[in-house]
Amino acid sequence: MAIFSQNPGIADIEQTRGLITKTFAYMVTLLIGIFTFAIISLLVIKDNVNTINDKHDEFLLRKAFDTRQENIRSHLKDNAEWGSAYKHLHKTIDLVWAWDKQNLGKSLYDNFGYEGVFVLSPEGSTRYSVLNGKLWLDDLDNWVGSATKEDLLTKLRQHNGLPVSMLTLIDSVPAIVSAAWITTGGDTTVEVLPGKPSVMVFIEKLTAPKFMAIGREAGILNVRALPYDVLSSAPNETEFTLTIKNGVVRIAWDSANPGHQMIVYLLPLMLMSVLITIAMTVILMRHIMHKARINDEHMFLLDQARLKLITSEKRFRDVSETTSDWLWETDLTLRIIWLSERFSTVTGYDNSEWTGRRLDELFPSTKDAFKDCLNREELTGQFSFKNCPYLNSQYSTAYCTLLAKFVVQCDGTVVIRGAATDVTLEVEATKRVQFLSRHDELTGLPNRYQIKEFLTGQLNKEEAKNYPFSMICLDLDKFKPVNDIFGHSTGDALLGEVSSRLQSCIRSGDFVARQGGDEFMILLADTSQPGQVEEVCQRIVQELNRPFTIDGNDVTIGVSMGIAMAPQDSNSANDLLRFADIALYQAKQSGRNRWVYYRPDMSEKLTERRRMEAELKTAIREDQLYLVYQPRFNLRTSKVDAVEALVRWQHPERGNMMPDQFISLAEETGLIINLSNWVLRKACSEAREKLPGLSVSVNISPVEFQASDVAERIKTILDDTGLEATRLEIEVTENVTLSEPEKTCQTMKALKQMGVRILIDDFGTGYASLSYLRKFQFDGLKLDKSFIFSLGDSQQNQSVVEKIIDLGKAYSMEVTAEGVETADQLSFLKENNCDEVQGYYVGKPGAISDLNLFLANY
Ligand code: C2E
Ligand code: CA
Ligand code: CA
Repeated sequence: MAIFSQNPGIADIEQTRGLITKTFAYMVTLLIGIFTFAIISLLVIKDNVNTINDKHDEFLLRKAFDTRQENIRSHLKDNAEWGSAYKHLHKTIDLVWAWDKQNLGKSLYDNFGYEGVFVLSPEGSTRYSVLNGKLWLDDLDNWVGSATKEDLLTKLRQHNGLPVSMLTLIDSVPAIVSAAWITTGGDTTVEVLPGKPSVMVFIEKLTAPKFMAIGREAGILNVRALPYDVLSSAPNETEFTLTIKNGVVRIAWDSANPGHQMIVYLLPLMLMSVLITIAMTVILMRHIMHKARINDEHMFLLDQARLKLITSEKRFRDVSETTSDWLWETDLTLRIIWLSERFSTVTGYDNSEWTGRRLDELFPSTKDAFKDCLNREELTGQFSFKNCPYLNSQYSTAYCTLLAKFVVQCDGTVVIRGAATDVTLEVEATKRVQFLSRHDELTGLPNRYQIKEFLTGQLNKEEAKNYPFSMICLDLDKFKPVNDIFGHSTGDALLGEVSSRLQSCIRSGDFVARQGGDEFMILLADTSQPGQVEEVCQRIVQELNRPFTIDGNDVTIGVSMGIAMAPQDSNSANDLLRFADIALYQAKQSGRNRWVYYRPDMSEKLTERRRMEAELKTAIREDQLYLVYQPRFNLRTSKVDAVEALVRWQHPERGNMMPDQFISLAEETGLIINLSNWVLRKACSEAREKLPGLSVSVNISPVEFQASDVAERIKTILDDTGLEATRLEIEVTENVTLSEPEKTCQTMKALKQMGVRILIDDFGTGYASLSYLRKFQFDGLKLDKSFIFSLGDSQQNQSVVEKIIDLGKAYSMEVTAEGVETADQLSFLKENNCDEVQGYYVGKPGAISDLNLFLANY
């Protein structure tokens, strides 16, 4: 999740800009470096070029000075090695030849600029001299000094008189002094005199104009000689030092300074290119930064979009993984392009198995519907197909509801995307509900609803009048005890077996249905032939009387049937069902394995029963009931110590009604609970108030033990009325123990814990076995009156009663004999240790006032 909380976009932006700025800085530094280097190089080159140029100039100048000396020497050679000169200057000084005839005269000054022209005698003294173009005899020593003269002469001797030259300062002006022996120059006409030769000396002072001229010839400007102690002042002045005989001369000139020229042209260009480069760089930089900013913004937005996309994708993935639906995408030929992970979970197929195949191949029922959708003019919008069946990987039919839409993709292609919701359970539940609403769940037979529908259809048929049919309602006899004794699963299996036996009894076209409980219905489609119904009924009785073997138990049941016929009895489905039901009731009333045809008077009886039910409800509510009490006489104490409460109904129209006229009705309709509550409450409060010292026993119907919490009810009533629990006794028939023995056992324990005693009523008529007596631990046993009535019939009957009394004792129960009507019966019971008797002989059931009277008379 950390990825979502950070903001990498902004960091990136800074990074990119920083990077660019850094790069820019490096670039600028590099450029500055390059330019600085270039400029420095340029300056160095400039200096180098200048130096080289100056050296060259110096070389040229030196060369020029040398050439000058050489020229003087050459000139001197021409003048000195000449027979005429030898003749006129060595042997003697011939002024006419020399001066007047201008052989060594003024022209040397005028034409060649030699300031001094000397002729020295072999001894060294000046014999002839032309100074500054004037014939003026002056000693050479005065011009150059004797040392320089000696050096010059020495050097000349070393060169055997060939012209030599040297530079020397004359009056602080550099000058070339050149000397040569005056020889015949190979002129054989001139006689060579013995002795040392005379010397001719030319002196040229290198004056400023001459320096300038020398420079000009070499292409060098403003060449001049500087006194050694003068500092050069001109900025472009260059100089070198010329060592001469009697000192040094600094030769200066104006440097051409080509480096400077180069700089003048190149530096501005370079600076301009620097500026242009910088300007371009800045512009470029700004452009790049601008681009970078836009780019970064785009990147940022892209990042944001990417994050959103990731989030949305994750969300989509999570949803598609957690949802029970699977998602799909197909092209317009319905070829599956993509399936979500859930597909394999829901269908059991591998995703790869179906990718590339057609969706309507998976859901064949959608073929036409898809075709319709794809034939639309505009491929837009949504569509859905409900409950589409398909075969899953287990080859069982499952159902999906498809919801889909056309989606236009970025490239313009249209695909179909959708979700498939697995609705198998709903569809099956709906089917089941539909089935159940028309079928009986247990046997799979059609139910009452369906038979009614069928019946209505049958009645609506035109030919119904020509083909009369019959409706049979069946009720199994003795089914309830089977259920009670062997349990519900056996009961269910029995019903299943019954349904198949019933089906075997009917013809094709007939119809068997289960109404509920142990009731069935049969519709015999065509009963136009006489005796047909009889035949079927006989077969049914025969079939169902055959013992059933279920879970290893042999079970025998019977059947009662009521029959209504159309169109004879009615043409209405409701009537026919009702009439058949009424006939069945009659059949049951009249005994087992019977079938009864409906007669109109029967429905009156049934109506009567319904009315009575309503009346009983009112009776309980409006206190039309009352109690009578029958004394129970204790044979050991010879006292009445208990009474049995028996209910009566003072009916406003029918008068006094006995329990056997309404108890079974109350049991069947469930009113028994209200009735019992009423009896218990009445008996308890009357016993407390009007029967001091006596116990009271109340009859509780076995159905109550199954239907409600008897113990709780009794406790409430005891609390409300204030009767001690020990004075209350409950009478239940032994059948109470048959169904749900565990629950009954618990209820009994709870009652006994309170102190309420429990008696088995009508002992000997029901199903109780010895094991039940042991298990349920009743407090007392009331021997049914049929045993007492038959006491006088045989010895055997007496011994049965004796045995039952012994049995009761063996289980430590008090034994009460009911229906004692004679003194003989009483004495027999007394002799046989019976604990208690009850009967008309002792006392009939009566109102509480009669009872008190009776007790008083006792
Ligand atoms: P039961 O519990 O066996 O009650 C005894 C029945 O035998 C009473 O009939 C009583 O009048 C009758 N009887 C008593 N002594 C003699 C006799 O010496 N000879 C003859 N022939 N009959 C005698 P009743 O009062 O008609 O009650 C009939 C049945 O109705 C009762 O049989 C009892 O099972 C049921 N019953 C009565 N009251 C109630 C009640 O409040 N609640 C319930 N659930 N059932 C009741
Ligand atoms: Ca009783
Ligand atoms: Ca009884």
